[in-house]
Amino acid sequence: MISETEMKPLVKFRTASDHYAADACVVWCYDDRFYGLLKEFGKKQKFGNIDLVKVAGGAKGLAQGTTPSAERDFLIAQIKTSVRLHHTKRIVLMLHRDCGAYGGTKAFPDAITEKERYAADLRAAKEYVRREAPAVPVEAYFADFDGLYSLE
Ligand SMILES: [Zn+2]
Repeated sequence: MISETEMKPLVKFRTASDHYAADACVVWCYDDRFYGLLKEFGKKQKFGNIDLVKVAGGAKGLAQGTTPSAERDFLIAQIKTSVRLHHTKRIVLMLHRDCGAYGGTKAFPDAITEKERYAADLRAAKEYVRREAPAVPVEAYFADFDGLYSLE
């Protein structure tokens, strides 16, 4: 048992205790260069509450599709929990240019090849998530240094 003396007040801050419905469950890379873009995207989409799954590589782990991995299973469980607890309206998947999880831009011969790889992985991730969470619309985005691109 934790006594009062073991927990010292550090930050005074009022957090709303109401439960919420999530406008989206967002799987985003934790690369901080793209956090500003996420905030801008959220503003444009008028997101009130989101469940943010911010992990290295963003949706990369979901692109493995039917091949089981600890990363894939963790990510899909996070998404399903969001849907179950917060009646999540949309699932947003993201990959980005120069992602360290892919070895960065230097791992690709040119910018087009790099973008094509992300597009292929986004398609695979989207298909997998759709299969696993069929009740919720799934969207996929590629984040570049000049903005966010929607996967057709
Ligand atoms: Zn990344």
